[in-house]
Amino acid sequence: MGRVKPLKPIVLPTTPEGAELPAYSELDRPIQFLKGVGPKRADLLKKMGLLNARDLLFHVPHRYEDASTITRIGALDPGMEATIIGRVVSKGVLPTRRGLRIFQAVVRDGSGLIECSWPGQPFLDRVLKKGDLLLLSGTVRFYHGRQFQPREFTVIAAEGEESSEETGAIFPVYPATEGLTHRQVRNLIADNLDGLLESAKGDDPLDDALRDDAGVLPLWKALDQMHRPTSLAEAEEGRRRLAFEELFFLQILHARVRREAIMERQGIAFERKDHLVRPFHKSLPFALTGAQKRVLKEIGDDMAAPRRMNRLLQGDVGAGKTVVALFAMLRAAENGYQAALMAPTEILAEQHARTLVKLLGDVPAGVTLLTGRLSAKQWKEAVYRIAVGDADLVVGTHALIQEAVEFRKLGLVVVDEQHRFGVKQRLALTEMGTHADTLVMSATPIPRSLALTLYGDLDISVLDERPPNRRPVRTALRNDSARPKVLTFVREQVEQGRQAYFVYPLVDESEKLDLKSATEEFESLRLLFPDFRLALIHGQMPGEEKDRVMRAFGAGEIDILVSTTVIEVGIDVANATVMVVEHAERFGLSQLHQLRGRVGRGSEESFCILLSSGAEHLERLRIFASTEDGFAIAEADMRLRGYGDLFGARQSGLPAFRFADLEKDTALLSKARGEARRIVDEDPNLDRHPALKKALHARYGERAKLFGVG
Ligand code: ADP
Ligand code: MG
Repeated sequence: MGRVKPLKPIVLPTTPEGAELPAYSELDRPIQFLKGVGPKRADLLKKMGLLNARDLLFHVPHRYEDASTITRIGALDPGMEATIIGRVVSKGVLPTRRGLRIFQAVVRDGSGLIECSWPGQPFLDRVLKKGDLLLLSGTVRFYHGRQFQPREFTVIAAEGEESSEETGAIFPVYPATEGLTHRQVRNLIADNLDGLLESAKGDDPLDDALRDDAGVLPLWKALDQMHRPTSLAEAEEGRRRLAFEELFFLQILHARVRREAIMERQGIAFERKDHLVRPFHKSLPFALTGAQKRVLKEIGDDMAAPRRMNRLLQGDVGAGKTVVALFAMLRAAENGYQAALMAPTEILAEQHARTLVKLLGDVPAGVTLLTGRLSAKQWKEAVYRIAVGDADLVVGTHALIQEAVEFRKLGLVVVDEQHRFGVKQRLALTEMGTHADTLVMSATPIPRSLALTLYGDLDISVLDERPPNRRPVRTALRNDSARPKVLTFVREQVEQGRQAYFVYPLVDESEKLDLKSATEEFESLRLLFPDFRLALIHGQMPGEEKDRVMRAFGAGEIDILVSTTVIEVGIDVANATVMVVEHAERFGLSQLHQLRGRVGRGSEESFCILLSSGAEHLERLRIFASTEDGFAIAEADMRLRGYGDLFGARQSGLPAFRFADLEKDTALLSKARGEARRIVDEDPNLDRHPALKKALHARYGERAKLFGVG
């Protein structure tokens, strides 16, 4: 590949030479010099990661108790859910017959008293003192009269300590540590807060204009409202500001990567010549979906513009991405450029090449496949044709970038990404051609907020409509007790000439155990199906071995493929019509969706059977069984498990946010992205935003390297 001038590293703009060091801020003051902190406390605070005044200021409550919704103790009735405030008037540990020890305390407010009971928590006797003022939430039950069963409690004040909370306010609860109670933390912050906020006033990374545009509070005000809100809404408004800042900073980094990839590179203005695109369109045996038309227009406009395209094409398996990609590739070809399609594995590359050839029919554009499976002679020939420009459409693996393959005139790179890959790899792609357009295809439906976070540097096109006439995969949820029946069903299918998958979850963090269980299951299935051809595929197998098994399965030489979750996302075996997922409850819904996409690819009716025991996960699995809409499933998964779990922690690659919540801050995120792009377009080096620049350096200095090349 023509190694062109390496990209300018996109590190953040540095402070100009000779610039003065930033003035010392009161917020940099080491924590032991704050009011009420001595060396001993300083050590405890350091254990919590609080080293200076700024850290303490940003040590915000992790939750709030809303004392305005307090129920008077006299008004409690059995069956109620309530929050109460009362002083401990007596306490003690009771043994019970079965050896369980119960801590009990009687608390009182102006209206009455009630016994609170904590079974199995005798240690509370050492934690709670007589005279402590407690805020408790829990349920009231009937047990020798009324008894309170706290779910949570908070010590608001000790004996003799004043407390305004008795009158009803929002009560902040801080993260604490052993040796330092949340009350001590709260008092410490309260004692220093006015001074800290004063120092923060000169330290806002977002200037007035930006804050106005975004509709967020000044930093000091946000912190003030988080530390001492008069309502939960005020605390939330404060959080929102800090969340915006987090999202915005990340979007600034994305916007800079985007600028480098698009704005600062010369692009190609592909003309709508149509002598390949039109006949191709006419030859298609189906009408394009509305979504395909919309996306093709987005891509077409992008390619026609004289700047580089840097776009993500997102769409569920089967949404018709390949067809769209081929349109774009033909657009490049009819302009006299070459187009490359890169897949993550050789098998997928081969499959893509076959698909393109089939889709092209008589359209005069040649497909050249370049993989390690070619003979030396074939390889040389292919490389030659690519170099002289005879090869219009080239399909290969990501190794196309690594191998020194020279294109004569590369105009478009399509990356079939399958698994998410990072900004860094995308930048490596940018490096490939001087001004080739880039289209990244992803088959993982993810909620928009996630897409904007992971792919903030790309423009995004979404294929959110499935082609019509696709036979739905019949999904069934079965209890483990129905396993024999399921096995019989699989037998019937295989006897009719179909193929089946059995999928096992990653059982344990330990890969050895994982392998062991898959192997054991494999052996037991072999005994159950002695007359069928079975093969095992798992994560610890060498790549070549995996390829060999997948090829054999694709060729119909294997009836039942037993696997851990390593089945290639894009693999297409039309004759495989059954998938049995064991321990389905251990999978995320999005994972299940990707798995299910392996069946239903041919003309025969297909089945996905989830085996699971226990009722706990039924609801989740039912949602999955009820729809094949990948985006709906991803949204549900995110709602139920949180976005971090969406793809399994290992591959999520998501930045950790302290204040932002991708689920609830979707609108804020769109705003952050809009503002970030606007600012970077107007002022790429952030020279007119010195406070922002400084804060980015301070906070993302190290991480920002990720956004540079090398
Ligand atoms: P993806 O790459 O998104 O998984 P494909 O492009 O492989 O999806 O499309 C899946 C199948 O649907 C292919 O057989 C393709 O030819 C077919 N297909 C694509 N678009 C349409 C359409 N608009 N109408 C009917 N079938 C379509
Ligand atoms: Mg262009």
